Amino acid sequence: MQLWEKHEDERRLRCLLCPHSCLITPGGSGVCGVRVNRNGEVSLSTYGIISGYGLDPIEKKPLYHFFPGTSILSVGSYGCNLKCDFCQNYHISQSAVPDHSRKLAPQELVRQALAAGGNTGLAFTYNEPVIWFEYVTDCARLASAAGLRNVMVTNGYINREPLAELIMVIDAFNIDLKAFSNDFYRSYTGATLQPVLDAIKMVASSGRHLEITTLILPGLNDSAEEMRRESQWIAENAGRGVPLHLSRYFPMHKRNDPPTPVETILKLKEVAEESLDFVYTGNMPGRDAGSDTLCPFCRATVVRRSGYAVTMTGLTDGGRCSRCNVEIMKWM
Ligand code: SF4
Repeated sequence: MQLWEKHEDERRLRCLLCPHSCLITPGGSGVCGVRVNRNGEVSLSTYGIISGYGLDPIEKKPLYHFFPGTSILSVGSYGCNLKCDFCQNYHISQSAVPDHSRKLAPQELVRQALAAGGNTGLAFTYNEPVIWFEYVTDCARLASAAGLRNVMVTNGYINREPLAELIMVIDAFNIDLKAFSNDFYRSYTGATLQPVLDAIKMVASSGRHLEITTLILPGLNDSAEEMRRESQWIAENAGRGVPLHLSRYFPMHKRNDPPTPVETILKLKEVAEESLDFVYTGNMPGRDAGSDTLCPFCRATVVRRSGYAVTMTGLTDGGRCSRCNVEIMKWM
């Protein structure tokens, strides 16, 4: 799929991958810093360039309803198409590619994924995988053919056509919904809200697995009213069974605000639970109760989580509540 077109001035090229629609001059790059105008086309300068990879618990993505308790080979690169003031991975998302960076061909990555015992598949994560599009799709196709699953942890800031191609090869998405306010997106991320909502709707309607994460920042997106609107929108447009992770913010990158109070996260969880069946708290060490899965019908605890340790306390092999037989998870 060609992800660019010529501008009418015949010099600049328009990137069609994400809603920024960057017009890139010869030798230059777009907002993400990694898609470049070279030799008369837009190409990916970080193809195969790895910032880090390793076997992670799938709960760390976070994905709680997709092969719970397994591990997944997680891989990332450099760069991002958003510029969040509070980025928790800014050292790779907002930095240039270092000279010593390593390269990994898709065949080699998949070979390592197959060799890793108990591995569910590949997770594209750490920096923003949307901008790594060609490498992600090449690896994911190979991984699927080898019987592995593919996961993407993304900001969801992508155009419809490339997202449709990703949906063909990615089995599970965790999409960041950073706030439920366009003002927030404009002020703190350099992007806009609507394309992210469109991506969530598209993934939800595709039948691929979807979970959503919102990082709660004190004073910026932590009102009960905003969380009520966000969770109602998710229920109406993606389904009340879509898991929502409310993650606690710690000072990072350009922001020095104190960490989000634990009480705020707990209060917002209650608000979101008015509309959604599965709302989890994250980034709260020592407070594991908020990460357990409860049956939405009989309220039995069906999965207990302590850190990244997972115990199925009331879930059948088919992902149903063992007390009342309600379906909790499709992917086991
Ligand atoms: S992917 Fe990069 S170059 Fe393309 S439109 Fe988005 S920010 Fe611009």
